[in-house]
Amino acid sequence: MRANATGRMLHDPKGGSFWFDAGAVCLDFAHTGGEGRYAVFETLHEPADLAEWLAQPSLGAAMTVPVTVRELTAAKALRQAIWDTAHAQAAGRPLPTGAVATINRAASTAPLVPELAAGGTTAGWAPPVRATQALSTLAREMIDLLSGPLSGRIRECAGDNCPLVFVDSSRPGARRWCAMERCGNRHKLRALRARRATEP
Ligand SMILES: [Zn+2]
Repeated sequence: MRANATGRMLHDPKGGSFWFDAGAVCLDFAHTGGEGRYAVFETLHEPADLAEWLAQPSLGAAMTVPVTVRELTAAKALRQAIWDTAHAQAAGRPLPTGAVATINRAASTAPLVPELAAGGTTAGWAPPVRATQALSTLAREMIDLLSGPLSGRIRECAGDNCPLVFVDSSRPGARRWCAMERCGNRHKLRALRARRATEP
């Protein structure tokens, strides 16, 4: 199934979880883990983990061919490239050349093929459905995002030390937080305390 809705539940290794909508599937994918200090957030440990993520909404790409270790490695490289380019774009820096090459390489293979169901009211992906195709679809979405009208709406969360990145596709374009229930409320609470502290 394909749907326009994006967003995934993110789990903090220290406990707690919250709904985070990055505004695009490729950006949601960029938050499935990472390298270095973000390695603690890794959720894609095995090929099966990648298959499970891809099968969930909104991508809904249930693999008909098992994910390979090589595809998992490629997925993590693409994820890092999406993360790096999104942050560069948000900060107004030039996009890192290596990351751009990684995204272009992933996009150069055949993407998922949409298929209308017999009734014509639902759509899925035509088999065979391989991880490499799903990665191509994600890479192509990121290319559209970086080169399209919403490129200026790619932002990092305004919360202190919150590196989550999203594209604000809302009409007013005033989104500041990864999630209101997380950084938005922390900010409100701090502002309230600061105001109380200055009151006589
Ligand atoms: Zn945040």
